[in-house]
Amino acid sequence: MSKEELECSFCGRKKPDTNLLIAGIDAHICDRCIEQAHGIVAEEPTHSSNSDLSDELMLKKPRIIKEFLDEYIIGQDYSKKIMSVAVYNHYKRLLQINTDDDVEIEKSNIIIVGDTGTGKTLMAKTIARMLNVPLAIVDATVLTEAGYVGEDVESILTRLLQAADYNVDKAQHGIVFIDEIDKIARKGDNPSITRDVSGEGVQQALLKLLEGTVVNVPPKGGRKHPDQKFIEVNTENILFIAGGAFNGIDRKISKRLNLQAVGFSASMQEDGVDRDNLLKYIIPKDLKDFGLIPEIIGRLPVLTYMNPLDEATLRAILTEPKNAIIKQYEKLFAMDDVKFTITEEALNFIVKKAVEYKLGARGLRSLCEAVLTDAMFEMPDGNDKTLEVSREYVEQKLNKSTIKKLKAVS
Ligand code: ADP
Repeated sequence: MSKEELECSFCGRKKPDTNLLIAGIDAHICDRCIEQAHGIVAEEPTHSSNSDLSDELMLKKPRIIKEFLDEYIIGQDYSKKIMSVAVYNHYKRLLQINTDDDVEIEKSNIIIVGDTGTGKTLMAKTIARMLNVPLAIVDATVLTEAGYVGEDVESILTRLLQAADYNVDKAQHGIVFIDEIDKIARKGDNPSITRDVSGEGVQQALLKLLEGTVVNVPPKGGRKHPDQKFIEVNTENILFIAGGAFNGIDRKISKRLNLQAVGFSASMQEDGVDRDNLLKYIIPKDLKDFGLIPEIIGRLPVLTYMNPLDEATLRAILTEPKNAIIKQYEKLFAMDDVKFTITEEALNFIVKKAVEYKLGARGLRSLCEAVLTDAMFEMPDGNDKTLEVSREYVEQKLNKSTIKKLKAVS
């Protein structure tokens, strides 16, 4: 066949009438048909995305998920294991949605109990990073029942949509981290006090979301934009992770375990119960006693806890995770050609201060800022290009103004 005789196998245009004719094995396609076909593909809702995503995720077995978490999070092995399995099962569930048998795998939404600063948010962030799915972090304390001052629960999905750049499909496979879930616990044991705006009503409103439902979401959120067109979001495949400190829940656990008050005779300690970390004995009933309604507990079936951070863990957090705080400062200084080093004694001193002021891991950052702010201010345009931080340097900087403020925080 001569060149002129070649034609597009789709529209029949002759080669001279096209800008470009691409040859396949037995056929040709012209530039216009390519564009048209591309348009069709782009418009088509991505049928395949669900299975593509799941296929990809099925490669991430729980052990691989945990290894990834290990790179960013120090310790908390129990929680990492529980979360790895929950995430794996969550994506297995996505796969089964397309199958016809009667066994239905339920959602494996997660609830993490642990003191503030023990890494609950970090856990959710790391999982979202690994799965490369959008993450919305919301604070349960700002949520209220519809009609009250505050944000409706739908605002959670607005955040997720924003995190997904308004790609609904992506948002529908995302992760929502609800922080401070303990703050919407029912106050008092009397269920008749129900018009409690910030408590049970919000829990009720959350139920549907956690379970899986189609919600009309105001894309810009809030009530400030009454004219916006709602976007439908299905929460069925969204993984919800709730976190809270549940201050005082240890007393409920202790009561349930029938433990005597601390400080009793030594023989009381022989039961092998770790009194310093009663959270490890937590069961769903304790959450109910704390004031979460049973329906909410039922929809957050995976329960795990975070260990309190001891000195060794805090020390490791400073330098070991992939984006450890100290590594971040090294990078920041390096961008100004400053070589930053810090001695072991200086690191240990920072850890000691974090423990002393009960600042936890979050305090490590504030302490480092307090120590390094002067240098970060002066060095970028200074002549000195090396910064060696010793214990004396840390002490000197902390003795200046900021340390008092840090004390106030604790
Ligand atoms: P929470 O949500 O439990 O209040 P965050 O996840 O916000 O705590 O943690 C506070 C800070 O401490 C974050 O900067 C986080 O990176 C760091 N952090 C806490 N626990 C760990 C840990 N186990 N490993 C590494 N960093 C941690």
